[in-house]
Order: sequence, then C-alpha cells, then structure tokens
Amino acid sequence: MSTSADPILGIDFGTTNTAAAFFDKTGKLRVVPVTDKSFTLPSVAWFHAADKAIVGHAARRQIIDDPRHTIFGAKRFLGRRFQSEYVARHRDRFAFELLEAPDGYTAAKVYGKVTTLTDVAHLIIRQIHTLASHAAGAPFAECVLTVPAHASIRQREAVRHAAEMAGLKVRAIVNEPTAAALYYANLRNPEQTVMVFDLGGGTFDATLLSVQNKVVKVLATGGDAFLGGANFDELIAERLVDDFQRQHGIDLRPNKVVMQRLIFAAESAKMALSQTEATPIRVPCIAQKDGAFIDFQYTLTRSQLEDMVFQLVERTAAACDDVLERAGLKAEQIDELVMVGGQTRMPAIRQRFAHFKRLSSEKEIHPELGVAVGAAILGRNLARGVTGLADVVPMPIGIMVPGGGQHEVIPANTPVPSVRTVDVDLPPWPGPVPVALFEAVDRTTVERELLGTVRIEPEWRVANKGPTSLELRMGQDFVLSAALVSQEGRRQPLPIVDPRAPQRG
Ligand code: AMP
Repeated sequence: MSTSADPILGIDFGTTNTAAAFFDKTGKLRVVPVTDKSFTLPSVAWFHAADKAIVGHAARRQIIDDPRHTIFGAKRFLGRRFQSEYVARHRDRFAFELLEAPDGYTAAKVYGKVTTLTDVAHLIIRQIHTLASHAAGAPFAECVLTVPAHASIRQREAVRHAAEMAGLKVRAIVNEPTAAALYYANLRNPEQTVMVFDLGGGTFDATLLSVQNKVVKVLATGGDAFLGGANFDELIAERLVDDFQRQHGIDLRPNKVVMQRLIFAAESAKMALSQTEATPIRVPCIAQKDGAFIDFQYTLTRSQLEDMVFQLVERTAAACDDVLERAGLKAEQIDELVMVGGQTRMPAIRQRFAHFKRLSSEKEIHPELGVAVGAAILGRNLARGVTGLADVVPMPIGIMVPGGGQHEVIPANTPVPSVRTVDVDLPPWPGPVPVALFEAVDRTTVERELLGTVRIEPEWRVANKGPTSLELRMGQDFVLSAALVSQEGRRQPLPIVDPRAPQRG
C-alpha cells in the first residue's frame, strides 16, 4: 500500500525511447539508468515466440535481423482505430504485420497470434518499472505518464491500461510538452513565456506556456501528428532507394525487410550527421544481380541531408507560427524555445529557429530526458498535494444527437479540469435517446473518434421540460465524464458506454 511519501515514478513512454525519473526519499532527482551507458530504453519488443519477448537495446538490434517479429514505434498506433486515416497512411511502412483487432483498434500479429499494442506497451513499461524499482531499491506503486499533446482520449486510456498491467497506478497523465515545461520551470526565472518544441520519433508538438513561480500554464498547443524523426529517416531512405535504382536498375521498395534495413541505416547516418559533416552508409547484401550480391554504399553529407529534409523542417516552423498566431504572440516575445525530442539534436533545426531570443541548450535541457524529469516533478508535486500545472484539452469534444444535430461542447485549448454544459433539443424519440460523444482526432482532417454514447431516459425528459442540459467534464487526468443537469441544478451522472472500447482487465 502506498503512502503519499512514497516516490511516484515519472515515465516518458516514447515512440522511440522510454525513460523514467523519480525523486528519491532524500529528495534527490534520479534518472533511471538502463545500461551503464544509457538512460533510455528503446521502445522495441522482439518476440522470439508468440508469448515470449525481450525489450530494449537487445530487441532493437533485431529490427535488422528479424524485422517481422520486432515491434517498434508501437506507440504510433496505440489507441488508434485500424480503419483510421493515420493507420492507413503509416501501416505499410513497417515490416511487422498490423491488423484490426476485434475491438476495431490496431494490433500486431506475431507468430500467428494477435498481440494488442497495449500488451506491447505494457512490456516496455514493465521493463522500465523493473529498472526503476531496482534503482530505487523498492518497487513503485504509482506513476505519472506522459503522452503527446495531441494524444486522443483513447490513446491516453491505452497507455494508462498498459501501465496498470505493469502494476502501476496512474496518478496523472500529462502532456509531454507540459512535462518539459515543468522541468524548465524548475530551472529558470520565475516568470517566462516559453514555447516547447517537441520533435521526437513519431510526433511533433509545439506548445506555448507561461511559467509563473514554478507553475506552468498552457496557452496554446499545436503541431503535426504525422511528423517525427521517423519521417526524416523514411525520406532519406527514399532518396537512397532512388539513387540505387538509377545505379543498378533495381527497385528495392517492394522488399519490406530491405526497406527496414535501409531506414535503420538512414537513421544512424542522420544521427551521425548531427556531429560530423559526412558519413558513410553501408548495408551489405541488399540485392542480387547476375547471381551476385550487391552491397549498398553511399556517403551522405550534412548539406545533402539538409536539402532532403528541408520541407519537413519548414512544416515544424509553420506549425510554430500557427500556435504563435493563435495566442497573438510573435517569436520575439517568447523568452525561450525549449527543444525536446531526439530529432532536435539536428543542427539545421536549431538554425531554423535562431530568430527566437534564446534556444534551450542540449546540456541543460536534455532532449531525451527532460520529459521524464518533468513527469517526476509532477509526481513529487502530487505526492505533496499540489500539481503546479494547468494543462489544456488538445482536441475538441462534441456531441451528436439523433437526427444529426451536432454541438462542440469542450473546445480545444480549454484548461483542464473543465466543465461545460450544452442545451440540446432532443427529437421526439421513443424510449431512451442515445447521444454520441466525439473527439475530433485530427485537426487536419475531419476524422473523429467515437468516445461512446450516453442514454437520456424518457423519465428525465418527462420530469424536466424544455431543452436538456448535458454536462461534460474533462478531469485533470483527461478522463471524460457526463451528467444531466436540471434547471434547479440537480445532477444525474450518465455512464459513457462504448461497446468497442478496448477491454480493461
Ligand atoms: P525521442 O522520441 O525523443 O527519443 O526521439 C527519437 C528521435 O530522435 C528519432 O527519430 C531519432 O532518430 C532522433 N534522434 C536521436 N538522436 C539524434 C541526433 N543526434 N540527431 C538527429 N536525430 C536524432
């Protein structure tokens, strides 16, 4: 049984890497060591049988040797419907098999067995939990989890469930940029306006925050759910494939395993080019011609890389401009651009944002660990009974009544916790009226996620004449609840029922 004095583990379960941190009983910040050289656990699971997997560095090495059974980047698909546009756009890029689980969500098929991505996430969180408990000398009972600012309610539920499966009670779910800002707030002057630029492996978030006396308030958030370091790797690999085809007349694209090896090599080259001006890329035995194997060989320079990914960097800049515009601010008014996510180590990205007054230094705000440390700070605050943050709803929540009437109830960027009430005119309907709750999942498309339905019973309508007041509440933990409210202020909670929701154990 945990007491408020027990440390709460801050976990950054990332698309590419997972990290964790906590404050020990003496109040000292501890980042969880993964190996003697590293504080990050690759978010990769290699299945060597249907029910047997290893995770982390050893699993990552299998992306090359056994790509069909090595699940990486699972967080991209976690809590996403298989039929969604996002999954359709991304699924073919992976050598492992993705499919639709009976609940409509995306799962992986390994050795003929359907493995949910929540299971994969659970394996990774369990491993970091084990490492953390080892470092602390006692098992953790509670954690704070981070998610991208754009994470939908379903995605938040899925990571929460994965952590619960790993034996951890989830005290809070915090947006990654907010966690980074909490970390930052503990380092800097009491009053600042900052923008967190978070470009990790899978997503890009730009978040404007005000920091006052170590309390962080989110002013606006935006970004691009389709943009991350992996897009850089894929683009480089595409160019390499074009070059190979010109040279040898062989198209490598149809072979997913070869493509995976090339993407992996592209990523290594990309990372090397953050330090050096040119780097060799060599992938042995990539194709066969006239009975002989051909190796892939190329020397990539930093300036070639920068030309290749120019448009991607511009997309991040456009998203930042959009966030600034929504908040009515200019880059010059921002005290610091806090860069988190491994991809921000690329020098061209730092140069592109040189017009900001100040950029966070890599040494001070560690791009890969800042989010986990922020989560640990929130954990410490929660253990003391304070939060020190004001987060916002990333995507609007709306309802639809039979007959097609739609209302946006909680707009994007509304601070949490928040309660909003909407008066709905219900159509004449025999029996209970089902009202559907939606989250607009993607700003760039009309894609929406059905969160569930509430049923308004005829008894309520008979007892309460006039329009029906429906109240939606989004908690600090991003859990949504609904209630009916009468003219006299009487509340009746309404369960949100979703027959297709992932089953919770
Ligand atoms: P994260 O999700 O924060 O762990 O970030 C992972 C992403 O950062 C991956 O796409 C990596 O390829 C990328 N990354 C890590 N280190 C570097 C580096 N030194 N230069 C460029 N990109 C990097």
